[in-house]
Amino acid sequence: MLAKKVQSISPSPTLAIDAKAKQMKKEGIDVIGFGVGEPDFDTPAHIKEAAVQAIKDNFTRYTPVAGCQELREAICQKLKNDNQLLYKPQEIVVSNGAKHSLSNAFAALLNPGDEVIIPAPYWVSYPEIIKINDGVPVIVATSAKHNFKITATEIAGALTSRTKAIILNSPNNPTGQVYTRRELEEIACLALEHNLYIVSDEIYEKLIYGQQPHISIAALGEEIKTRTIVVNGVSKTYAMTGWRIGYAAATAPIAKLMSNLQSHATSNANSIAQKAALAAILGPQDCVAQMKAAFAKRRDYMVQKIKSIPELNCIEPDGAFYVFVDVSKLFGRSYRGQQITDSMDFATLLLEKAQVALVPGTAFGAPNYVRLSYALSLEQAQEGMERIENFIKQLD
Ligand SMILES: *Cc1c(COP(=O)(O)O)cnc(C)c1O
Repeated sequence: MLAKKVQSISPSPTLAIDAKAKQMKKEGIDVIGFGVGEPDFDTPAHIKEAAVQAIKDNFTRYTPVAGCQELREAICQKLKNDNQLLYKPQEIVVSNGAKHSLSNAFAALLNPGDEVIIPAPYWVSYPEIIKINDGVPVIVATSAKHNFKITATEIAGALTSRTKAIILNSPNNPTGQVYTRRELEEIACLALEHNLYIVSDEIYEKLIYGQQPHISIAALGEEIKTRTIVVNGVSKTYAMTGWRIGYAAATAPIAKLMSNLQSHATSNANSIAQKAALAAILGPQDCVAQMKAAFAKRRDYMVQKIKSIPELNCIEPDGAFYVFVDVSKLFGRSYRGQQITDSMDFATLLLEKAQVALVPGTAFGAPNYVRLSYALSLEQAQEGMERIENFIKQLD
C-alpha cells in the first residue's frame, strides 16, 4: 500500500476549474482569468540582470544550506528597516519559496497529533502542509462582521491541550484584510498565555493600499518574537514567483532545525535566484511602488463595480491582490435550467457560459464566496466584470 499520509493530501480543489480554463484558452477561447495567484508583471530588469551576472560570475555552486551570507544579511537589514525586527543571519533560513519555508516551519514545530489553528477563509495549502508534517489542522471560522479577521476569543474557543500553533496571514489571501496592531496584540497575549507558536505569513506585506501599516506580530515584543516564525519572500512583492525564493526568521534553535531538515531535502535554494533576490531586496524599490499603483487602480475599479451589482457583495480589500465576493444571493437561481446551488456551480457555469475563470470559496473554506484576483490588466478586468454582470442578468 502506498503512503497513507500522502494519500490523505487533497489535490487543490481549484485545480479542476483552472485546468478547464487553460484547456479552453488552448482551444482559442477568449477566457478572462480572475483565477491567477501571481502578479502579471515581468520581474524588474535590474533583478534579471543580477541573475545573468551571477551566471557569468560562475555563482553556480552550492551555497550554505540556509542561503548565502550576503543574502541572509540583506534579509536581516530588511526585517530591521521594514518591520522593526532584529534578527541575526543565523536566525534566517532561505528556502525554495515561502511555501517551502512554511513547510520547514511546521516540520520544526510539530509532533504527531499537534494541532494548528487555521483561521478560515485560509490559503489552500495551509491544511495540507500541516498534515504532511504530522499535524492536525483545526479550521476556525471567522465572521464576516469582523472582516474575516480571527479574534483572540475565537482562538480561545478552539484551544485544546494539543494546540501548538496558530497560522496568521496578513495581508490575507483570499480576503485582502490587514490585521491592526490592536488585533495582533490580543492574539499575541493569548498565544503567550498558552505557550503557542505563531507562524506569520507576511508574503503580501508590500501590497497594502490604504494608510494602514503592515505590522509583524513578532515586532510586538521580545517574548512573542521568540514564539513566532516570520515567513516572507520575493514572489509577490517583486513578481518573482518562478524564481522560488522565500525565507523564514526564527530563534536560532528553530532556524537550525529548519536548516538541518533542508540540508537533507533540497540543500540550498538556487544560487542564481539567491543573487536575484539579493538585488530585489537591496536594489531600488520604485518597481514595487509602480506595481502597487497598478494593483491599486484595478482594486478600486473591481470594488466599485462589484458594489454596483446588487446580487454581489464584498468587503473592501486593503491588501494583496484579491477581492473576496459573497455570491450567496445567487444560490437557487438558474441559468437556462441549470441551477446554482453553491459557489462551485457558479464558478463552473460562469466559465462555461461567460468564459470567466475565478476560484470558488470552497477552496478556502468559505463556500458562499468566490475569489477574484486582480493580477490582470485593467482592460481585462473591465471586460471580465462586464461578462459577470451580463451573466447574472441572464439568471432566472
Ligand atoms: C503565494 C503565497 C505563498 C507562497 O509564495 P512562494 O514564495 O511563491 O512559495 C505563501 N502564502 C500565501 C498566502 C500566498 O498567497
